[in-house]
Amino acid sequence: RQAAFRTDLSVLLDQVGTGKESLSFMKRRIRRLAQQWATAANRLDSKLEQRWRDQKKILVHVGFLTEESGDVFSPKVLKGGPLGEMVQWADILTALHVLGHNLKISMSVKELQGFLGVPPGRGSCPLTGPLPFDLIYTDYHGLQQMKQHMGLSLKKHKCHIRVIDTFGTEPAYNHEEYATLHGYRTNWGYWNLNARQYMTMFPHTPDNSFMGFVSEELNETEKRSIQQNKVNNMAVVYGKEASMWKQGKEGFLQILHQYMEVHGTVYYETQRPPEVPAFVKNHGLLPQHELQQLLRKAKLFIGFGFPYEGPAPLEAIANGCIFLQPKFHPPHSSLNHEFFRGKPTSREVSSQHPYAEQYIGKPHVMTVDYNNSLEFDSAIREIMRTKVEPYLPYEYTCEGMLERVHAYIQHQVSLHGTAGGNRITGPLFVPLPNSTALVWASNVTAPVAWPPLSSLRLLVSQESQSCVEACQSAGFICDLKRPTDVVDSEINHILPAFSVMRRECGLQRDPLLFSCAGHSPKYRRLCPCRDLRQGQVALCRDCL
Ligand code: UDP
Repeated sequence: RQAAFRTDLSVLLDQVGTGKESLSFMKRRIRRLAQQWATAANRLDSKLEQRWRDQKKILVHVGFLTEESGDVFSPKVLKGGPLGEMVQWADILTALHVLGHNLKISMSVKELQGFLGVPPGRGSCPLTGPLPFDLIYTDYHGLQQMKQHMGLSLKKHKCHIRVIDTFGTEPAYNHEEYATLHGYRTNWGYWNLNARQYMTMFPHTPDNSFMGFVSEELNETEKRSIQQNKVNNMAVVYGKEASMWKQGKEGFLQILHQYMEVHGTVYYETQRPPEVPAFVKNHGLLPQHELQQLLRKAKLFIGFGFPYEGPAPLEAIANGCIFLQPKFHPPHSSLNHEFFRGKPTSREVSSQHPYAEQYIGKPHVMTVDYNNSLEFDSAIREIMRTKVEPYLPYEYTCEGMLERVHAYIQHQVSLHGTAGGNRITGPLFVPLPNSTALVWASNVTAPVAWPPLSSLRLLVSQESQSCVEACQSAGFICDLKRPTDVVDSEINHILPAFSVMRRECGLQRDPLLFSCAGHSPKYRRLCPCRDLRQGQVALCRDCL
């Protein structure tokens, strides 16, 4: 069946259900952005020019909101707890609904069993027969629950699963045997999925797919009125929970206070939280639309280093604020920071919000060393002098998200490790004597190549450099999911690569170990990069 765009969200709102603050939060968000989604649907509809889109049967199982996983999030929705995940799930549900797919939503193990056809009362009875869905979106909690309730058949149906995974999962952690043997085993990883099946909040791990979320868009009249009404000396602090204000913040808060009126949206019950200095005008935790209003007036949105990589800075920048955030020296990662410990990635987080730093940058974003009070002081003064326009990258608009999710659903058809419709052989790397040059093998075959081969650019990294960095520094993005021809070589997530000492190329034997992230001082990586669309890094130029 052909999928038809939907602009009426009432059926979706009924499906989301009631009875929990998290669900109410998501529904308020869906309602608030309904008009924006409808406009985006109409735009994408005409952009795609009647192209055939398959209607898919999709199950969304939100594992972290199930009682069975402990649901620690719902009780904290109104108390300053994390909201980023709920923002993202609300937007994923809306995107799938608006794209016209046949959607079922599950927020409990019982509902999951019902949808998968597991008879009630026979909790662990494995699913037999075909999977009644083309795609299942879930998270790590949900994956665990599906394993318990589908038994062995999970393995058979694995390629239909997409895992919403905020911080990303790198191939070395995902590959069970490799992770176990080489010290990459964590509580979350080792599911042996294709790394593309993990979908992240920001495009920070090109081995994974970038799912994202949306932010509010402004029309030209709103943009103009915001710019006229900006209060040049008004700052809003990023941090809705009092603990984010603890320790070591006094120094730069004092400097900030010399120049600006400081506002906060810190949750409190009856008394002002002691962590928040008296000069801060605290509004308490605000509903999303009221936070937007506050951001429309403010000139500066300032991060204290936590939370990492949340939605709020994009909302602030979209409302015409400049986002000031701390640079991390050394970068935070699972090797040196409690928050990331045990997460299935070695990614180095260079600031509180690397996307804002690397993809948006000046004049909207300033990333400075907060320990250097001179640098901090001059950043504040520069911000007060600088005029900026509200800015939202296309990939975080409703149309951008619809475009991306549409492309994934229609093109990421088979995400199996070794076989499937999208498998291509090649590129073939050929070591040349006394040279690190590579040539394309002429026998490259691509039955259903997506992204198309025309988008591919081959690069060799520097020693110690990963393919993420090598591709990025040439203005491309790493796209290392193509199995090369198999030759005998060691098993290593650095491959394909050129060994500088041995002057030879090693190819990747295991499709699950292709990793953009891997790097080593002994190797120069061979990096298939691809071109990208302006404002939509998930898609190559000819990928729509
Ligand atoms: N938010 C809110 N009220 C507030 C502060 C934040 O509704 O007073 C919302 C904000 O609009 C954003 C969401 O909380 O969409 C998540 O924000 P954050 O970046 O803090 O990420 P988190 O740590 O909650 O995942």
